[in-house]
Amino acid sequence: MSDRETLTWELFGSASRELAEQVAADGYRPDIILSIARGGLFVAGALGYALDVKNLHVANVEFYTGVDERLPVPIMLPPVPNVVDLSGAHVLVADDVADTGATLKLVRDFCTGHVADVRCAVVYEKPHSTVQCEYVWRRTDRWINFPWSTQPPVVERNGQVLDA
Ligand code: 5GP
Repeated sequence: MSDRETLTWELFGSASRELAEQVAADGYRPDIILSIARGGLFVAGALGYALDVKNLHVANVEFYTGVDERLPVPIMLPPVPNVVDLSGAHVLVADDVADTGATLKLVRDFCTGHVADVRCAVVYEKPHSTVQCEYVWRRTDRWINFPWSTQPPVVERNGQVLDA
């Protein structure tokens, strides 16, 4: 078996739909979907359409610097979401994966005390995550290749567009 779990764009289509079905089946009707950029933006966009939620917000969190390489702690980069906009809302936090869980914990704790309710939806959750998400599509302990981050960025050099 490969040491990597691979999510293709096609599989992401059904994964995000099934994740939305879990939220709907649970009777949870979020007022706001708060995505964790960048990977969570894809998940939040798909959930927003599937659950008919138009109010999407973004939290920019930086933690990973490479495969299993991290900063000492996750940090929220500006612009930080305005808690007044979240006030009293039922919030669904969306991310691609809960690995250590530190990123989701940071965002969930940021919401707690301001919002009516906060729940988390992820495509993958790893067994050692300190946050147990309410909605999870699949569980794995392997490193995941996401379709949005497996290819290198594109760069322009001498009039040619190349992979970095
Ligand atoms: P955590 O804070 O739960 O350790 O990690 C959260 C973030 O780290 C994810 O949103 C993702 O950007 C990145 N990350 C963690 N594990 C993986 C992984 O297995 N594959 C990829 N591509 N990114 C990961």
